[in-house]
Amino acid sequence: MDLDFSPEDVAFRDEVRAFIAEAYPKVLRGKQQDSEGLTKDDYFSWHRILAKKGWSAPSWPKEWGGTGWTPTQKYIWSEEQAKADTIPVLPFGVAMLAPVIYTFGTEEQKARFLPGIRDGKVWWCQGYSEPGAGSDLASLTTRAERIKGDDGKEYYLVNGQKTWTTLAQYADWGFFLVRTDPNVKPQAGISFLLIDMKSPGVTVAPIITLEGGHEVNDVFLENVKVPIENRIFHENQGWTCAKALLMHERSGIAGVARSKRGLERLRAMSLSEPGDDAGPLLADPFFKRKVADLEIDLTALEFTELRTLAGESSGKGPGPESSILKIKGTEIQQRLTELTLEAAGHYGAPYLRGLPHNIGAIGPDDARDVAGRYFNTRKTSIFGGSNEIQRNIIAKLVLGL
Ligand SMILES: Cc1cc2nc3c(=O)[nH]c(=O)nc-3n(C[C@H](O)[C@H](O)[C@H](O)COP(=O)(O)OP(=O)(O)OC[C@H]3O[C@@H](n4cnc5c(N)ncnc54)[C@H](O)[C@@H]3O)c2cc1C
Repeated sequence: MDLDFSPEDVAFRDEVRAFIAEAYPKVLRGKQQDSEGLTKDDYFSWHRILAKKGWSAPSWPKEWGGTGWTPTQKYIWSEEQAKADTIPVLPFGVAMLAPVIYTFGTEEQKARFLPGIRDGKVWWCQGYSEPGAGSDLASLTTRAERIKGDDGKEYYLVNGQKTWTTLAQYADWGFFLVRTDPNVKPQAGISFLLIDMKSPGVTVAPIITLEGGHEVNDVFLENVKVPIENRIFHENQGWTCAKALLMHERSGIAGVARSKRGLERLRAMSLSEPGDDAGPLLADPFFKRKVADLEIDLTALEFTELRTLAGESSGKGPGPESSILKIKGTEIQQRLTELTLEAAGHYGAPYLRGLPHNIGAIGPDDARDVAGRYFNTRKTSIFGGSNEIQRNIIAKLVLGL
């Protein structure tokens, strides 16, 4: 694949760079490094600026706000955002739910839900996993039964529990997989429902993760009434939507551009921190080799991602290669945070979550929150379908085993 930029691509890159430099809010600069400090408004403010510019949903069909960019332009876009450390647009609405709506939804559903997603007005969460249904997602038991409301209209009455629901504490709406027919094989009795999180009967309870953060939640659904028109696609055929959404979710987890930025940071850090012999850590051949191995793997992954982007723009949705991107991307993220913690050495140890920059930090600024990131990144090989499950998918769909 030819990675030389054409003059048009260079002009586009300069335009993107200038736009980010001018439009990215000053109050958000540096905040991306400290995800615990981000408010709902912080998450949405860059998204809303991008929406005004028409750049919040580059991959969508043009009629709903897509940019029509080439794969190279999309690549440039994610590179430049990573370089500038911008807060990423959240994936739940733009990258995960929207493709399901514009592929499987009715015209009314597209008109009702897509603008709020594109413009950063509505925060979505993903209600797939349950305490007894993670890897074996099709065994989910959250039940949705049809009832007649007092107004004479038909509703689903939803009862069950979802878990690990990321950032549900901020969510206005959620997309949920529910069982509408318990008497058929598991995949055949599932429907895809959109639920207003303010509906009576929805309760969100925090789960605190290893590094002390509140990122995930349990969501309890008790006699929640959901209008029938909030179902996407046919009743009992939600598994088709669920699978399509997971492909989009997995391709997005690879995070190549952000890992490249992280690698630059690691290099800078290990050039400035003294190693055991008081020279820079990067002069240590063992450490240098680990960094080089990581860089080689990251470059290989970048080419795989570019091939996927090229395929997408020729009309191919992400297929099983999204599992390859997910495994390699998350393994690289984990190795990167391990090496960064190694580079921080003992300065990574006095990790105190949530302290402002000027209080309590011991050692150089770049060692701050390194341990938090290390712990937080353990999740990436689990969410979006664990890496073991992705290997099963590759064995079946790519290798035909
Ligand atoms: C930080 C975080 C955020 C998340 N956010 C969301 C969210 O927003 N919405 C949502 O719906 N879900 C979310 N999840 C849930 C996530 O998708 C599940 O955790 C994941 O699918 C694994 O399911 P499980 O936790 O039930 O583990 P299990 O399915 O119980 O698996 C346990 C272990 O067994 C292995 N295993 C299971 N089956 C097989 C098999 N057939 N072959 C080989 N190995 C196997 C798994 O790989 C894993 O290591 C999140 C998870 C995390 C950690």
